Amino acid sequence: MQFKDLTRQYNTLKTEINRGIEDVITSSDFILGKPVWDFENLLAEYVGRKHCIGVGSGTDALVLALRAYDIGPGDAVFVPDFTYIASASCVALVGATPVFVDIDPDTFNICPVSLKERIESIKKSGELEPKVIISVDLFGLPADYGAISEIAKQYKLIVIEDAAQGFGGKIAGKAACSFGDISTTSFFPAKPLGSYGDGGAVFTDDDIIDRRIRSLRAGGKSDYDKYDNIEIGYNSRLDTIQAAVLIPKLNAFKEFELDAINRIAERYTKRLNGNVITPYVPEGFFSSWAQYTIRFKCINEREHIKKRLKENNIPSMIYYPRGLHQQKAFVNRNLHDDMFKNTVAATKTVLSLPIHPYLQEDEVDLITSVVLGE
Ligand SMILES: *Cc1c(COP(=O)(O)O)cnc(C)c1O
Repeated sequence: MQFKDLTRQYNTLKTEINRGIEDVITSSDFILGKPVWDFENLLAEYVGRKHCIGVGSGTDALVLALRAYDIGPGDAVFVPDFTYIASASCVALVGATPVFVDIDPDTFNICPVSLKERIESIKKSGELEPKVIISVDLFGLPADYGAISEIAKQYKLIVIEDAAQGFGGKIAGKAACSFGDISTTSFFPAKPLGSYGDGGAVFTDDDIIDRRIRSLRAGGKSDYDKYDNIEIGYNSRLDTIQAAVLIPKLNAFKEFELDAINRIAERYTKRLNGNVITPYVPEGFFSSWAQYTIRFKCINEREHIKKRLKENNIPSMIYYPRGLHQQKAFVNRNLHDDMFKNTVAATKTVLSLPIHPYLQEDEVDLITSVVLGE
């Protein structure tokens, strides 16, 4: 069994995907070809934003979003402590300072109470200027944008939604990638909408930000002459071949994959509920299940079940084994485990089980039987 079975998806979508790739090769339109523009339009429409800009990766999408708002040295950017490194490395890459915030113990997303405390303490110390909140839609579940927007308004902060895992999620019918001032996602193959290589996108409703990101992704070119560069940019465009792969994948995602993965998650929860801690989806929230992450009472129980799954050839993953404050890249910042109690508890108790839209019911039943020791 595979953790994410991309082969089953390919077998289902093979004809369209192969045709799309072949068309790109035949046309030799490799850089910013028509499929990129088509895909950007489809994606913007799907999430309900005015603009979508296809870029080289989810990490680049975050860097470009920060650059578009002129975030740099001296600026504090608040980031949840429990996430993939890119949510914070993007901050360091533009020269700003990531400030880690503990998570909500039930949703694993940024905790609004801790966020407010960290903003206050940064303001009090006076060394950095609070500028941005990067809120992550972890494991497919949107963060609490109601509470986050309130705080952002109070302290005049920009909200960047890191929806690398959140694509397809919703709050009260409103789609992920439409929250906050600007949103980003990733098309890394294992994400909810994955390509066959690296890719990402930025979403904005602001025409000026849109133009700036289109310039920054192509070396900082000007609108009138691509060899007249108005600022220092990057080489970070979504490949045409990747866009051609993503168009049929987006169709499948809309038509049946998102529903299928929700049925899988429901079956997991029904079978596991009461025996382990199953994922919490607050009222009105909808997840795209980038991960199905359960929790145990202690690390020993987690390790025991992980081993039993492995003995039965069932892969499982620990997302994440450490908080950002525990990463070597971020040591020497005077950060202590007791500032991130919920993150530290999560690192010791979480376990992500195989989930993807092509997982079969009998496979879910097998996995849950092994977890429950039946
Ligand atoms: C995967 C991921 C990213 C980065 O995406 P890449 O395309 O791999 O650069 C950023 N944030 C989160 C939360 C992610 O899971």
